[in-house]
Amino acid sequence: MASANLLQSLDYSVLQQCMHCGMCLPTCPTYVETKMERNSPRGRISLMRAVADGDLQVTKALSDEMYYCLGCLACQTACPAGVNYAELFETARAEVEQAQVDDGMQRGFWRWLSLNVIFMRPWLLRLIGRVLHVYQSTGLDALMRRLRFFGLMPPSLKKLEPQTPKIAEHFSDDLIWPEEKPKQDRGYRVGLLTGCIQDLAFSNINRDTADVLLANGCEVITPRSQSCCGSLHAHNGELELARELARRQIDSFDLDSLDAIITNAGGCGSHLKTYGHLLHDDPFYAGKAKQWDKKVKDIHEWLVQIRFRKPTAGAGVSEVTYHESCHLCHGQKVVSQPRQILASIPGLTFKELPESNWCCGSAGIYNITQPEQSQKLLTRKVENLRQAGVPVVATSNPGCHLQLANGLRACSSHPCQEVTQPVTLLAQAYRAEQSAQGGGVS
Ligand code: SF4
Ligand code: SF4
Repeated sequence: MASANLLQSLDYSVLQQCMHCGMCLPTCPTYVETKMERNSPRGRISLMRAVADGDLQVTKALSDEMYYCLGCLACQTACPAGVNYAELFETARAEVEQAQVDDGMQRGFWRWLSLNVIFMRPWLLRLIGRVLHVYQSTGLDALMRRLRFFGLMPPSLKKLEPQTPKIAEHFSDDLIWPEEKPKQDRGYRVGLLTGCIQDLAFSNINRDTADVLLANGCEVITPRSQSCCGSLHAHNGELELARELARRQIDSFDLDSLDAIITNAGGCGSHLKTYGHLLHDDPFYAGKAKQWDKKVKDIHEWLVQIRFRKPTAGAGVSEVTYHESCHLCHGQKVVSQPRQILASIPGLTFKELPESNWCCGSAGIYNITQPEQSQKLLTRKVENLRQAGVPVVATSNPGCHLQLANGLRACSSHPCQEVTQPVTLLAQAYRAEQSAQGGGVS
């Protein structure tokens, strides 16, 4: 076991913030499931504090508890004491990884391959994406299923196979120029983050984001050198790799020349806004990271801030509901802006989703690491969507998007059959407006 105690190295006041009031309990999906104190935010914070105090060893049981937590941050929204659960959670996961208490060969290999190799190399991730696209578009995947090839795989991988995201034919770099100028310039110059999963599975949403920015008078800069933002690494206890990716991301953008750096993925955005903290003791990057944090804006947040232009045409959709990505609402507190955007689209009726901010079970790679609990949350979400009874649900995070699509695909008679994003609907409305006027979107 490694000797350095990461929880101990935290500012002790962060560990002391919790006053054990229990206000967070009913908002915590894992506590609501088991009603066990240790599966609650309060219980987990007590465990972390005991480790920091040296009263508790870092064990496999502690690791299991930290990985049972979704990291959804619903507790942070509910907490009257302002507990910084996000920082505690990341540090606790780093602590259990450092202690190597959960180091089965198979787990270690897949972690190393994904976090240390694939997600550190954008070219490799794209190459894998291209191969997967060929595999899917030629129907080889369906053939393999018919031949029951996946029957040979371990049960956990067999279950995951149908959830493999559909890979886009063209990635963001093929769809978006490094610099794009609006027809009517409002003097804003923004950087666009294309993400990694978003880039592979939803490059069209990146294009929609660029179109919406152009339609609102923003010049859009999309550097080719950007890579994964590191949120996957930070949320899975690999803080050093997360720092390396943060430095690379900062270096990809000319911060001084940009008014904002735009993200359209809730999970990434929540992490991107913490580079200042992540790099606070880096002598070269600390200042730049602070500047970076101030400039990172979620697309909905930015559009409302610059008073986005309301479209004059509809989006081709009559009714929509909205599922909130945990890290957009609890992590970034971006709650009203996506609703304002949806409400601005002519002819579109917005209907609130019951428990809209209750986690859908995607939570990074939680649907892979904790498939049972993830499925329970997805079932609950699908039921809430049934109650909303509308044909389209919008969300704003690739993980949630895929999770909802998988859940709805499994229910053919469900009233909701389409998952989209607010920014896509806005882009569609602008396009409809422009085609009515006989011109392009920007
Ligand atoms: S992050 Fe979510 S699952 Fe974890 S303790 Fe907080 S509310 Fe519970
Ligand atoms: S709401 Fe905050 S202070 Fe109260 S028990 Fe939960 S984490 Fe602790």
